Amino acid sequence: MKVLKFGGTSVASAPIIRKVTRIVAAAARQEKVILVTSAISKCTDTLIKIGAEAAEGNSTYKAQVYSLRCIHHRIIEDLLEGSACAEALKECDGTFDELDRFADGVFATRAITPEQAEAIQTFGEIFSTRIIARKLAADGHRVRWIDSREIIRTENGRVHFKLTDANIRATLDAHPEVDIFVAPGFIATDLLGRRVNLGRGGSDYSAAIYAAGAHARIVEIWTDVPGIMTSDPKVIPAATTIPYLSYRAARDMAEFGAKVLYPPTVAPAQKAGIPICILNTYDPEAQGSFILDNPPHRSSGLLGLTSLKGEALSGVAESVETPALDAGEGEVVLGLIGTGEEDGAAVEERMIRALDRAGIKTLRTARTRCNVFAVVPSEDKRDAMLAIHRRFFESKPVKVINAFLVGYGAVSQYFIDILKANGDTIAERTGKRIRIVGVSSSKKYILNAEGIKPEDIATVLPYGHPAEGGAFFDAIGTLSLRNAVLLDCTNSESIGLRYEEFFRRGLHVVSCNRRAFAVPYARYAAMKATAHDYGLALKYDTTVGTSLPVLESISGSAYSGDEITAIEAVVSCTLNNIITSYDGANTEPLGSLLKQAQDIGLTEKDPRADLGGRDALRKLLILAREAGVPLEESDVEITPMLGPEFFNCPIEEFYELLAAYEPKFIAREAELDALGMRQRFVASIRRDPEARLGYKAEIKMQLVGMDSPFFWISGTENVVIIRSALSAPLVIRGAGEGARMAASGVLNNLLAL
Ligand code: ASP
Ligand code: MG
Repeated sequence: MKVLKFGGTSVASAPIIRKVTRIVAAAARQEKVILVTSAISKCTDTLIKIGAEAAEGNSTYKAQVYSLRCIHHRIIEDLLEGSACAEALKECDGTFDELDRFADGVFATRAITPEQAEAIQTFGEIFSTRIIARKLAADGHRVRWIDSREIIRTENGRVHFKLTDANIRATLDAHPEVDIFVAPGFIATDLLGRRVNLGRGGSDYSAAIYAAGAHARIVEIWTDVPGIMTSDPKVIPAATTIPYLSYRAARDMAEFGAKVLYPPTVAPAQKAGIPICILNTYDPEAQGSFILDNPPHRSSGLLGLTSLKGEALSGVAESVETPALDAGEGEVVLGLIGTGEEDGAAVEERMIRALDRAGIKTLRTARTRCNVFAVVPSEDKRDAMLAIHRRFFESKPVKVINAFLVGYGAVSQYFIDILKANGDTIAERTGKRIRIVGVSSSKKYILNAEGIKPEDIATVLPYGHPAEGGAFFDAIGTLSLRNAVLLDCTNSESIGLRYEEFFRRGLHVVSCNRRAFAVPYARYAAMKATAHDYGLALKYDTTVGTSLPVLESISGSAYSGDEITAIEAVVSCTLNNIITSYDGANTEPLGSLLKQAQDIGLTEKDPRADLGGRDALRKLLILAREAGVPLEESDVEITPMLGPEFFNCPIEEFYELLAAYEPKFIAREAELDALGMRQRFVASIRRDPEARLGYKAEIKMQLVGMDSPFFWISGTENVVIIRSALSAPLVIRGAGEGARMAASGVLNNLLAL
């Protein structure tokens, strides 16, 4: 035995009734069926209006009855033929005559009792089910129309289950030959014999009552939406069907506002252990929603989002766990209905944050065992629902980027810290999750294809495998992961030599190791070509200007056909910092400033690498090559800031020499101040037809006036000026150095994969 219930829109016209009878016929081939239907859509509303107009002495009720009669006639004439049609019309007219008499009686007394009002409303289900029963009979089924008014009995507004169940059993037992029982939903009779109804939307409830009484196998609620959805599809176009719900969750969804199911429906089915299936008449093959005792596990503990007018909260059934909330007119209660598996406090926090981001003020919140509620102003209902639904139910599948991290210095550690703090937010906003699958310092490495938690790395790494002799890279070779990237945060030229090998193994490379790129042009070009051949990315934006958008701006102009005529850059951190801080007699001696920069890690290990212009040289090579100029080291004319005597001695002597030169430096500063000039260590390439590549490349101290962007640099700022044939000079200026910046720069490169 199976109970099928069809709602008002499923019986509103002849074509849709044909769909219904096909579904019912298919079911009846398998087992006995009880078919319960609503009145055709809007019929109950019209009946309520008829009662009200008649009671007011308004004769327009007659026109309303007439038009209802026409609608039903039309359906009968479309659906049935010959004598079946004639008999159905006669039967329909008989019931309409009864309705006429009822309404006329109300009109005559100019008053309507609650009983009369309810009695008028019961006609709708009689009309609809009589027609369908006749159609099924005409199709050759063994059909019996049964009168729910005699079967379903109520007492003080509640179903008298004992009596009702006995009536159902007796009715079924009395007609063993019948395959399809057709019963009107919604209507009943109380113990005093008065016609009553089970409340608006009550046909669902009738179906569950019949199912319980008949010990049916299942109740199917057929409607015009695909099932119980994650939210009201009229408000949330992205709502999806919830495949499985427990009775409790279904009841909560219904009580707190999901309109698809009349809330009392759940209890009798649950008590009798009968599953409820919500299905779509317009798409009968779709899976719908299945309500049962132990729904299969889902990945998330949240099921759906409901909304209820504030004042309706007090109407929620007592048997349902309600939130301790006051909500009244002008407010709506939004409910996130869950399975109880989620951390309620965290859900509440995320819900408030989602509303906050949408600019909506959360008035109050409350939680129950499985659900989280928030009260918002009524006028924000739509936006609030959209925001919450997007946050909890529209998360797109996340793309995982598997990162092998080489080098465990300051940049790597900042990078790990960023992932620890922001990994979830990044995944939420970008749809990408960076999973660290390997880390190697110069001594040890760890590897786990499932991912290593960022917070565990510092503890676990010292116990890793020995990393000597490229063991880490050999181990990487044994894993084959999709979207895998080698993240080079070292300073080592030798790793750069292995990039091509990584490409051949299918790894992308993201690098902040500028030595890997300041190699002879042929090597650099081969590296890029291999990446290209394998369709893999080689990203190294952090090698110049760290997280400033320097390289992308240059390649952008070069690719778009705008010829770059010059690049001028102040990009060397140590020198920047020292030169901009040093002001002759007004500051500490140059040597002390340099020592401090070295101590806080702003310089290369031997600060003279920066002073000699080596670091600037590497950056210039990268800049030029990005612009399409195959620059070699030998093309660059370097004038170190200090004479050769500073470079050909041990580091202690170097600092002594600096101290000895201090008076000269002071004098030079005074002289420049008088001229209104400053000196900057500038790396540049400039169009020059005489030069080997058509560009002259230089690194040297330059005097600049106030009209130059270089004049104003402070601290560790970098400035790069890009001049091109077609557009005005582009000046990129900003904090260009530091491990934290580099970490965020490599992160951005990874997220662009
Ligand atoms: N016809 C009734 C109503 O409109 C019952 C139902 O549709 O479930 O409320
Ligand atoms: Mg309904």
